[in-house]
Amino acid sequence: MSQLSGKFGIVFGVANKRSIAWAIAQAWHKAGAKLAFTYQGERLKENVEELAGTFGPDTLLMPCDVTKDEDIARVFSEVGQKFGKLHLLLHSVAFAPKDALEGQFVNTSREAFRIAHDVSAYSLIALARGAAPLMTEGGSIVGMTYYGSEKVVPHYNVMGVAKAALEASTRYLAYDLGPQKIRVNCISAGPVNTLAARGIAGFTDMLKHYEAHAPLKRNVLPDELGATGTFLASDGAAAITGQVIYVDCGYQIMGM
Ligand code: NAP
Repeated sequence: MSQLSGKFGIVFGVANKRSIAWAIAQAWHKAGAKLAFTYQGERLKENVEELAGTFGPDTLLMPCDVTKDEDIARVFSEVGQKFGKLHLLLHSVAFAPKDALEGQFVNTSREAFRIAHDVSAYSLIALARGAAPLMTEGGSIVGMTYYGSEKVVPHYNVMGVAKAALEASTRYLAYDLGPQKIRVNCISAGPVNTLAARGIAGFTDMLKHYEAHAPLKRNVLPDELGATGTFLASDGAAAITGQVIYVDCGYQIMGM
């Protein structure tokens, strides 16, 4: 029997075929999970429709801006109607205004700070709250984070602070939801060439830097993030919660 057969999941954050969310969704699907998808706006609908459609014509696909409580409520109501229950949730969503990802962190505006935290960190709390009542058989919530939460990565700026909030939220959610057998973890991925990543000034240099300095002398592959996502979703990770798992070819252990 496949690792995730009989499990229902929802995936937030597929923008296109390069999205980390798509790599993890494909792995979850391959492991036997039945998935629903959300997309932020009409702009992305066609992309996500095409990708999600490869899992079957009846794949549930819903618009959801994670900064809107009414969108989140509608999504979980539709998931409840279609699946009746939920086991897996992938949070692979982040955003900060472009000018906050260039130049100096000291110049971060109040509004850029608010937006980055609302979209990239608070949303995990709101989505976990929406999903928990449907996770009646327990569940696994997985978020995506990055090392800029614990060390200074030039240009990552306010997103690093938002990722620190996301990781701390992961721990508090794990504590709250543990009694319901709902686990909450983050994957801290090394750099992957996606739409969001290209918004970070100097991203190409980051890829080269990891290749040169990570113990494995290469960058992480999307399939490898999919495999870790599947492990965290599976019973093999039944005793793992509140953790940040680095999938970065070992870069995080280096001091120099
Ligand atoms: P991506 O393909 O651009 O995915 C980011 C997703 O977030 C997009 O689908 C985007 O939709 C969505 N999003 C932004 N604002 C939203 C909102 N208000 N409501 C709903 N969705 C919203 O890039 P990615 O690299 O795969 O990013 C996925 C996650 O991995 C993020 O949390 C990112 O920080 C994390 N991560 C990425 C890397 C990397 O190097 N790529 C490394 C570590 C962690 P729109 O396109 O419409 O904005």
